[in-house]
Amino acid sequence: MPVRLRITLLFCTIVVILLILVSGTVYYISYNNRLAQVKTRLNNRAITTARLLSQSETFNRQLIEKIDALTAIALKNKTVQAYDPNGKRIYAFSDRVTDSINVTPEMITQAINTGGYLFSYGRQDVFAYYHVNGTGLVVFAAAYDEFGKRNLRQLSFILVISTLGGVLIAMISGYIFSKRLLSPIKNIADEVKEISAQDLNRRIEMRKVKDEWNYLSGTLNELLDRLQDSFETQRRFISNASHELSTPLTSMSSQLQVYLQKDRNAEEYRKVMESVYQDVQHMSSLTKTLLEFAKASGNAGGLELNLIRVDEVLLRLPSIIQKMNNGYSVSLTFDNLPEEENKLLVFGNEDLLITAVKNIVVNACKYSPDHQAMVSLKCENSDILILIEDKGVGIPNKALENVFEPFYRLDDSRDLEGFGLGLPLARRIIRLHKGDITIASVIEKGSLFTIQLPSAATLRTF
Ligand code: ADP
Repeated sequence: MPVRLRITLLFCTIVVILLILVSGTVYYISYNNRLAQVKTRLNNRAITTARLLSQSETFNRQLIEKIDALTAIALKNKTVQAYDPNGKRIYAFSDRVTDSINVTPEMITQAINTGGYLFSYGRQDVFAYYHVNGTGLVVFAAAYDEFGKRNLRQLSFILVISTLGGVLIAMISGYIFSKRLLSPIKNIADEVKEISAQDLNRRIEMRKVKDEWNYLSGTLNELLDRLQDSFETQRRFISNASHELSTPLTSMSSQLQVYLQKDRNAEEYRKVMESVYQDVQHMSSLTKTLLEFAKASGNAGGLELNLIRVDEVLLRLPSIIQKMNNGYSVSLTFDNLPEEENKLLVFGNEDLLITAVKNIVVNACKYSPDHQAMVSLKCENSDILILIEDKGVGIPNKALENVFEPFYRLDDSRDLEGFGLGLPLARRIIRLHKGDITIASVIEKGSLFTIQLPSAATLRTF
């Protein structure tokens, strides 16, 4: 069922319930008021007649009938009948001769037992009154409450009409209200529908009123910002990766083409094969890094996750770095480590963590004249901090964020081996482990990379 219809129905239901409740209450109160008034009037009439009858020595029947006929009780067609406790009728008066109440012994007994009660007899209201004085007397005073009944009929007509009118107004206003309420959503949906991957710089128009719809538009615009960023990053990544892969391929192809143009001696063939081999090595290492990148770019769900002791991971570094380059050296400092093993544990993938730290350590060695990296480990509150320091060339402030962009390399690093993927890969891996990397660097003095990881003592799951 469409939301608009649901809102309209809900609106109508609430209004109908309210109207029925109010109308019902008004009718009930008026109905009871009429009965109370009729009862009071008939009761007074019956009491008067009973008193007159019990003083029969002073008032004879004709006089009482005259009094009954002359007394106005604002009710039409009165009838008064009196009975002794044995059920014998001792008095009867009626405005119209045809009006008379067929009194049964049960009615008399009930009047004696209750002292007095009101009931309906045909179109008339009757009050049966028991007068206790003397031998006792039961008086039935009846009349037709034309005015009260007409008022009640008019009231119920007004209430029914106003309830129906209220429902109609509720339906129309509910429909208009829901339409106005939901139209911004439709506009937002229409605008979103028009935005495609090729058109990601379009944004949803923000409303002037600061309401929930405005908030929704803002949130969707933020989502579009993020999508646009990630599309752009992906596009740049693909174009850079293809460029990096096509350069060695072009070089291999042109070298082979030149050498195949005529017969060569063994030395020349060896030379070209060595050169092609270097290009292949370069490509293979790039493809390996790209694969690692892809692995770290997904979610952590597909990875093998374990509890890892960070100090043990760091202890493996010196030999890994030495194997990569004999001239590089790493010094480790583990001072003031906490005694609880828990605080040194990280929940994650050991291979990926080693790759991340290794990339930063290799850079520290690569970009410093002494080819040395100082690695230390600290625990701060619930965080594990791995600090990697070098006394190298440093990174200019304006490039501090850029170095995390895939394929970004500073000009002075062009003649050194690398693809510009080491730091972006490291950051992706660390972020996958719910941590972050920050850099502090001074040109020609050195850089300090801080890897912050949440310890497993506070975080158990990804
Ligand atoms: P690369 O393969 O070029 O080392 P990275 O992504 O690891 O790629 O680093 C990106 C760039 O950041 C490098 O080209 C280099 O210019 C700069 N850089 C990274 N680490 C350091 C460092 N410790 N000292 C100075 N410059 C660095």
